[in-house]
Amino acid sequence: MPEADPDLFDKVVNLCKRRGFVFPSAEIYGGFRSTYDYGPFGVLLLRNVKNEWWRSMVQLRRDVVGLDAAILGPPQVWEASGHLANFTDPLVDCRNCKERFRLDKLEDPDTCPNCGKQGTFTEARQFNLMFKTFAGPVEGAGAEVYLRPETAQGMFVDFKSVLETSRKKPPFGIAQVGKSFRNEITPGNFVFRTREFEQMEMEFFVPPADAQQWYEYWCAERMDWYRSLGMPDDQLRLRPHDDDELSHYSFGTSDVEFLFPWGWDELEGIANRGDFDLTQHAKHSGEKLEYFDQSSGERYVPHVIEPAAGATRTAMAFLMAAYDEAEVNGETRLVLRLHPRLAPNKVAVLPLSKKPELSGVAGEVFDALAPHYQCDYDETQSIGKRYARQDEVGTPLCVTVDFDTLEDRAVTIRERDTMEQIRVPIDGLLAAVGDKLGF
Ligand code: ATP
Repeated sequence: MPEADPDLFDKVVNLCKRRGFVFPSAEIYGGFRSTYDYGPFGVLLLRNVKNEWWRSMVQLRRDVVGLDAAILGPPQVWEASGHLANFTDPLVDCRNCKERFRLDKLEDPDTCPNCGKQGTFTEARQFNLMFKTFAGPVEGAGAEVYLRPETAQGMFVDFKSVLETSRKKPPFGIAQVGKSFRNEITPGNFVFRTREFEQMEMEFFVPPADAQQWYEYWCAERMDWYRSLGMPDDQLRLRPHDDDELSHYSFGTSDVEFLFPWGWDELEGIANRGDFDLTQHAKHSGEKLEYFDQSSGERYVPHVIEPAAGATRTAMAFLMAAYDEAEVNGETRLVLRLHPRLAPNKVAVLPLSKKPELSGVAGEVFDALAPHYQCDYDETQSIGKRYARQDEVGTPLCVTVDFDTLEDRAVTIRERDTMEQIRVPIDGLLAAVGDKLGF
């Protein structure tokens, strides 16, 4: 079993800041409470994580459709879902050092992890995590709206519209990627827990008798997704919840966990939610949220299997899994061994010098690749330094244009992982790049 590497945390956070993956939000004003902005490389990585999820969950499947629901919602939705009453965390304050904690995340519920004193906690108070605001110019009762704390409710509220318009029938799913907001008591561990984050969630509606089988199917399917994008097997596990962790309506929940620098922690929850959500929304809205099977004459409320993942958290886990340092000729070589599908840039086009005769042909090379692959273009510094810069941000391939290129119309492809170099004609470059990337 591998062990958590506590040093990795600072290394990845530093790399993120230094190379523009993630910046503290509003940094010129001193930063703003655990919110982060995704810079030029970070936005590409995050987008790739979301795109790969969408590709596997929607594009490659005949039984899942997509959705993009509103972020602002009326109280009725959150009353029906149970979030207004129950989406709370138990909050305790230490009377000695005044620090605030989530009781359920404390290792020892009697000892303050900040000052070490025992028995100094206040009684736990239930704190609702939803952000409330007001729609329209008048603040007050009747104008309250909530920022969604999860994307999932959109799929339940729109269940009937999707069923009527998509020609799908159970088993089928509705998938959504988007921002969610939780007024977390203790945000932290960089982008692991933030108040604004992105989720990738799918609700899969099935005949009740088939729910267990689909639950097992989705647990296996989701584990495969992480592995297929290069997550090492020994840093990934599926952990079934104990009975006392289960929500009252859940027939089964498992977490996909990653070995973070602080230990195993959640990337995704996969839950068999029964008919809880559709039944609640049917009761509160007065709409029938059920499926009528014309062939059998049977009418039923589908059960739901929900794989719910965090995009921002998962992007960070992929970064941590990919971080690699090796000694090369007495120097530390930092390489992000990201899967090519996740790498921010797939190819960097590097003219050997800034001379205009090279820029012309290098520009041509960039223009030939850019419609197909996200590419970078860099013409300053020595070629060795530029390779190192690309390795640090995980670019799988560098294409070097040199003075011979002007004679032979060929360029050098250099691979990130093997550092091998091959010479290929510009005419065959697109095909060679596709071959090496695998897509
Ligand atoms: P926790 O117990 O850690 O608060 P949760 O079990 O309530 O999380 P879910 O409601 O199951 O989380 O949300 C699904 C996924 O959304 C999580 O597995 C996680 O990847 C992501 N997520 C949830 N809360 C946050 C957050 N505050 N910041 C970043 N990602 C989050």
